[in-house]
Amino acid sequence: MAVRGPAPPLSGGELYAEYPFLPGAEALVAGEGLSVRALLEGAAYERARVIGRARVLAAQDDPRASSTVQELASAGPDERYLSFLFARLVLSAAPAAGGLRRWAVAEAKRAHARLEHAPSDELEEVARRLGFVFAASPKLVRVDLTDYVRLASPIREAEFRLASQDLSGGGVFVPAPRAARLLQEAVRRELAVPVPLTAELLAAVRVRESELLADVARRVPAAFERGRARPTTMDRGRFPPCLRRMQRTLERGENLSHAGRFCLASFLHRAGADFETIVDAFRGAPDFDESITRYQVDHIRSRDEGRGYEPPECDTLRSHGLCARDGDPEGPEPKDRERDPLCYEPFLKHPLQYYRLKGGVSRDGKEGDRPGPPAPKGRGGPGAPSR
Ligand code: SF4
Repeated sequence: MAVRGPAPPLSGGELYAEYPFLPGAEALVAGEGLSVRALLEGAAYERARVIGRARVLAAQDDPRASSTVQELASAGPDERYLSFLFARLVLSAAPAAGGLRRWAVAEAKRAHARLEHAPSDELEEVARRLGFVFAASPKLVRVDLTDYVRLASPIREAEFRLASQDLSGGGVFVPAPRAARLLQEAVRRELAVPVPLTAELLAAVRVRESELLADVARRVPAAFERGRARPTTMDRGRFPPCLRRMQRTLERGENLSHAGRFCLASFLHRAGADFETIVDAFRGAPDFDESITRYQVDHIRSRDEGRGYEPPECDTLRSHGLCARDGDPEGPEPKDRERDPLCYEPFLKHPLQYYRLKGGVSRDGKEGDRPGPPAPKGRGGPGAPSR
């Protein structure tokens, strides 16, 4: 397998062409008197619009493929920058946020593909311009503790947990690839927010790029919506706080860690959801891919002659930062925001146990896989299980 060496140092406008989201990138078109109207309609910017549309559509098809826009390879720095601006402008005017979020993932991954092999001074420079202090030494990159917490908190992969980090003197010391992944998250967050547009510009973009926006709407998977969920015997109100939060994360179009996705799919299967309902639960993910999701969900369901993989226990979910028993400040309902007393019962070991204690019935109809303590009065379903 070929191993990529370090990327060559960037000079001048190349930095902005590679990272067009950086403050200062507008220097690439200084003196052109560029306006939003001109970018949208001017003949001089036709090629930038063509490349921009390609950026938008490639992201909708597969936000994880950072190198699928062939037109970028032959584009000059100013065209790369302008096509980026155009894509951001159009997606900011889209009626739904899903297209912008998928594009943000794609652009962040494109930047990451370079950052993970970039010289240390380039990594530091990109971080600095994004407002973070990264200091690279030959082996590790020092990230300010507050910056680390801000950037790593949505990642949730076990290796990013603060408890696993090398901490010293208010800094976190991480290998360069992990620092690049933190910057990927910074870029994704930055680009997932629409740029503000006046009502007049919003209308103009929607009219001029109506075909592109319609194409985006067709390609973005419809997010799972509560009101349009498939009929199912499951009662989401009986789900434990951790699973409800995982569902909300995806419904908002935000990323859910690998551990969270596995837990959600395996839990939904055990709770009685059919195949399509489980696939639907992932449609809001910013990197949703229909065929991969179907393959993975099928794999999870097929285990053990259709019983499916065992969802992780509470201890495991806590170690991945996925437990929500203390409440979720962003939860829409009071019960989401409050501490859940059932989750603090000493016998509560598993999310499925919670579900059954709340009266949910699992796929195999069993009330419990293992003998366990009786349900507390008023909480258990018939024959409350241990897990
Ligand atoms: S205690 Fe268990 S069931 Fe409750 S929120 Fe945490 S992981 Fe979920």
